Amino acid sequence: MVFNIKEKGYKFIRVGFTNCYLLECNNGYLLIDVGYTGAYQKFVKKLKKKYDINISEIKYLLLTHHHDDHSGFANELRRNTGAKLIINEQSLEGLKIGKPDEESKPINRRIKFIVGIFSLFHKFIFPPIIPTENDIILTDSGLMTEVLREIGINGTILYTPGHSQDGISVILQDGSVYPGDNTMNAWYFNIFGIKKRPIYVQDINLIFKSWEKYIKLGGIIIYPSHGKAFNISKLKTNLAQYQNK
Ligand SMILES: [Zn+2]
Repeated sequence: MVFNIKEKGYKFIRVGFTNCYLLECNNGYLLIDVGYTGAYQKFVKKLKKKYDINISEIKYLLLTHHHDDHSGFANELRRNTGAKLIINEQSLEGLKIGKPDEESKPINRRIKFIVGIFSLFHKFIFPPIIPTENDIILTDSGLMTEVLREIGINGTILYTPGHSQDGISVILQDGSVYPGDNTMNAWYFNIFGIKKRPIYVQDINLIFKSWEKYIKLGGIIIYPSHGKAFNISKLKTNLAQYQNK
């Protein structure tokens, strides 16, 4: 099937390095991830200007994992909108501390060097996130399957560790895949030879398992948190190469 990414009409706001995707749900929108702490006002403005959506229309915030570039202004957004969190149980610890755990490591030496320089200017922290009883904590695979349908989204959540131990992805009935950081496609990372892999990896084999899940479940277009959307055929090609090594 030929699938034109531009025709799809998907919605996203890019703040800093992070793409925050919007999915229509009952009475508003579900937002997948937020950007760094401090980027909230910028996000609100962009949302209004690009799509004429008011921040109050965001009813749910799904965090693909606990890292600072995905959870940064979550609290501010919750305070201002009352949006309910949808998070993996395994994200709780990292969210509570407000800092990425140490399990994910740079994928190669060049990335390690670049991140080393970046860390001189950037502290990888965010305001600790403590869920309330209104929030949705995904504790088992049954809930992952049901929760999106219950709020009017035709899709499912998958547990997809690999980039981090707590990673979850969203896959919609129409073949859209929101993998969080299990694959990346930003030019400024691609030049370091990552070939659609994330720059930080907890377990590369689990990443490939996640890619296999996206393929098996009928994924067509990948909407990564960093970089442009791309056809899943690229993951298939890369997977074949890595598995032949
Ligand atoms: Zn991450």
